[in-house]
Amino acid sequence: MVVVMGPGADEAQIEEVASRLRLMGLSVHRSDGKDRIILGAVGDLGALDVEDIRHLPGVQDVVRISVPYKLVSRTFQPESTIVTVGKAQIGGKQVAIMAGPCAVESEEQVEAVAFAVARSGAFILRGGAYKPRTSPYTFQGLGEEGLRILRRCADRHGLAVISEVLDTQHIPILEKWVDVLQVGARNMQNFALLRELGHARKPVMVKRGLSATIEEWLLSAEYILSGGNNDVMLCERGIRTFETATRNTFDFSAIPVVKKLSHLPIIADPSHGAGRRDMVAQLARAAVAAGADGLIIEVHTDPDHALSDGAQSMFPSQFDRLMAELRIIAPAIGRSICLEPVAKRGWAR
Ligand code: PEP
Ligand code: MN
Repeated sequence: MVVVMGPGADEAQIEEVASRLRLMGLSVHRSDGKDRIILGAVGDLGALDVEDIRHLPGVQDVVRISVPYKLVSRTFQPESTIVTVGKAQIGGKQVAIMAGPCAVESEEQVEAVAFAVARSGAFILRGGAYKPRTSPYTFQGLGEEGLRILRRCADRHGLAVISEVLDTQHIPILEKWVDVLQVGARNMQNFALLRELGHARKPVMVKRGLSATIEEWLLSAEYILSGGNNDVMLCERGIRTFETATRNTFDFSAIPVVKKLSHLPIIADPSHGAGRRDMVAQLARAAVAAGADGLIIEVHTDPDHALSDGAQSMFPSQFDRLMAELRIIAPAIGRSICLEPVAKRGWAR
């Protein structure tokens, strides 16, 4: 349920409403919008008489949220959430670009990719140090040493860092080295992990599970917000369907659906969506056109020898070309892509 406070409501009135709700055993989450303050009350509403709340001083309206996710819904917060990560304001006008290898393999490898993607206009360096691999016999990642490598390379090129958190015990280690914690598709319903991330001090990006509905995905984000961490982004990375021509089926409609249902930023991952290098750019362009707030793309200087996801990793030159194309597409829908590196080096390469 949300309680919409009137424009003239003062702090004492807001506190009175909040404490009444708490007395009824509800948890209260406040959202300060541009024009009004909203209190979201979550919990068992069975005994609650909505009229009691509606008549309290300062209250403009009381609305029941009919969907099972509450804090992530646009009813609770009509304005889009903006998550600040380094130089990027994700969820605003600018489309945020995250790029880097699937997995951290060595300092030389990450350095070469970080140099290239920063030059092309990415703001955030990606790279897995703890890898969720389908087979236990494939490369599992370098662990904390991988995070140190990511941090050093990102700092040399003015980038922020995103990396995957596989397990609750890794949260403090990731918080130390990275700017955004990524919840992988396979962990989207690891509820113990999601609960812990509700107390994390860094933003979290939740990837859509392989077979998850949008509602299930939003409920996963709800776990994190209900724990008190509001800096959450969602990431569409393709879902499993009967189709085998691509690694996954990229669900473009998830972008406008999520934008309508939730205030959280939505990022598109065309690399895992396509699973093949020759189609990543097309998916990326379409995702930006569909309204994605950002992209996360796998880039490798030697993808044919990559330790994971080489087939879907772009060469830096392909990524650079894609960025130039996105700089044309984004303004057509009122968005922008970072121009700073181009301004510094000029268009011709
Ligand atoms: C990844 O980003 O490399 C990854 C493992 O992604 P997903 O969880 O979407 O499969
Ligand atoms: Mn990958």
